[in-house]
Amino acid sequence: MTNGVGSGTANGPVECPRCGAADTVTVANATEGSGCAHFAEGTVIALMAGAAGKYYADERNWPWLTAVGAVVAVLLFLGTIAVVRSENRDARRARSAVDRAAAAGTDATHYCAACGEASSPRDAENA
Ligand SMILES: [Zn+2]
Repeated sequence: MTNGVGSGTANGPVECPRCGAADTVTVANATEGSGCAHFAEGTVIALMAGAAGKYYADERNWPWLTAVGAVVAVLLFLGTIAVVRSENRDARRARSAVDRAAAAGTDATHYCAACGEASSPRDAENA
């Protein structure tokens, strides 16, 4: 006989008790965000694209490649900004959901992006 400790939360996906979505994430992962790392990665990739355009423009004597590299670099940078903004927005939603759950007396352990609510699935199993 098990006492329910750890049931449903050991490494595998945890189902949302509110909407049934199987892809909840831990509150720590949902709220911390990794915007700085992604911003740095995206900036480096954009700079490399711009540098590659310049390098091959010089090497092959195709001056228009410099402009192509610059356009690709700008697009990559704009994409990076969009990704970082989206992650920050998701983290804000998760923190709000955790705050709502705390106000309702639940010490939330998981956040569900599908319904935008935080919950403690282990408590739901015992309810
Ligand atoms: Zn849900």
